[in-house]
Amino acid sequence: MFRDNSGRGRALQSVRMRSLVLIGHGSHLNGESAVAVYRYAELIRQRGLFDEVIEGYWKEEPSLRQVLKTTASTDVTVIPMFISEGYFTETVIPREMGLGHQGPVPPEGVARVIGGRTVRYTLPYGVHPSMTDVILERAREVLPDASPEDTALIVLGHGTTRNENSNKIVYQNADRIRESGQFAEVQALFLDEDPKVGTWPETVRSPRVVVVPFFASEGWHTLETIPEDMGLTGTVTDFPENPHGHQQVFYAKPVGTHAAVADVILHLAEEASGAGGPGGDTERGHEAAWQAFLKGARSGLRVGEVLVTPELGVFELRNALDEGRPGGELTTLVTPEGVRDQVRFTDGGEHRPVHTLRNLPRGWRAVLSEADLRRAMHYVYPAVIEETYAHDCHALRPTPWATTARRQTGIYAKVQKATPAQVEHVAQDVCTGCLRTRLWAGHKLTQSFLNGVPGGIPCAEACTFVVAEVREEVSGKRGGGGHSHSH
Ligand code: SF4
Repeated sequence: MFRDNSGRGRALQSVRMRSLVLIGHGSHLNGESAVAVYRYAELIRQRGLFDEVIEGYWKEEPSLRQVLKTTASTDVTVIPMFISEGYFTETVIPREMGLGHQGPVPPEGVARVIGGRTVRYTLPYGVHPSMTDVILERAREVLPDASPEDTALIVLGHGTTRNENSNKIVYQNADRIRESGQFAEVQALFLDEDPKVGTWPETVRSPRVVVVPFFASEGWHTLETIPEDMGLTGTVTDFPENPHGHQQVFYAKPVGTHAAVADVILHLAEEASGAGGPGGDTERGHEAAWQAFLKGARSGLRVGEVLVTPELGVFELRNALDEGRPGGELTTLVTPEGVRDQVRFTDGGEHRPVHTLRNLPRGWRAVLSEADLRRAMHYVYPAVIEETYAHDCHALRPTPWATTARRQTGIYAKVQKATPAQVEHVAQDVCTGCLRTRLWAGHKLTQSFLNGVPGGIPCAEACTFVVAEVREEVSGKRGGGGHSHSH
């Protein structure tokens, strides 16, 4: 049933392809975290330099464990969407993606061959030297006529005593801008370490002061902590009685949300070791999985809660519970991004970090071309088609709970203490609401959706949502019954 058409296979092999993967932190709790990564992925897609741009997350799907399987080519560049180096970029991402690397990433990145794919892992975008230009852009936006005579620049970082690297990049940028001579003075200040941001009136002397937060996104720090610590009331704040006389502060937006970050990402991708090569082939396992899915889709198929129906050269997706409802009663979506945004929340407005939980929203239909159907299905059920096809070909190896637990570090290391009963208790609570079958707990899946059983989807490894819930269970913070979301 899954045999590839060999003529097609030969034709595909000659196509050179490149995949770009952007890695974000994501969140089990709210949908905001992923939005910045979506935005950059869209900007880069528009440039057309990569055949595909895929997002992957630590706490959402596709997860770091799954994301490589979802890339269509054998040439993959992975960029961590983080503002500085640290625990995630040096420990968590390389470990979870199986890069066989731990610790600082060299400037040219790390290149590995993983399961037939050449994978290049780069430094996070925030440490790229061209971020200096983004800081200057942000400064110009709030004060277009900054001058070396009367204007100071403060590059404001988070800073933390746990990671010596996170302040290094703020100092480096401040040094570069100071050397350029565009400002009367340039200072690096921090929220969480010395020199603290609140000390600025003593140390900054210029009458005009531009503050650029070296932060990834707009949030609690940029909207509340920084204005509070500096005494800012808006974009421009007057301080008539400072120790150095009257001063005016111009508060810029965070660097991480500037559209030019898309250029920084492309620079990083170009500079990654071996990135100038000819590109890769179509990844055969991935392509075979999608061909198997498309074959089913062409005659109508149910995948989990979704109904795929062929319609005169296009495909319709809708929640199977909306089967038979007139199209006029449903919101019609026409892009994969529209589908992505629709399925991110339940009907009750709750964020859905695990897409196979049985809470797909209702009330919509999507009408899509075959190419868009692939992308839309990737958003509805990330990695499900690839993993199910691999399972049906006996090529999906389950990772037992003990192995997943042993791998955890940082705040999740304590899941190693969980008893089998505690893990089972969480799984009974969470996984029973999930379409997937827990191969990692020894359960067996005999039929998959590719064989006509809609709910037949394998779970090869406990997801990060369940890992986080087990941590709560071990800490005694998890109430009986309903889900705890306090982690
Ligand atoms: Fe679903 Fe449980 Fe697997 Fe998570 S661990 S994907 S909730 S079956």
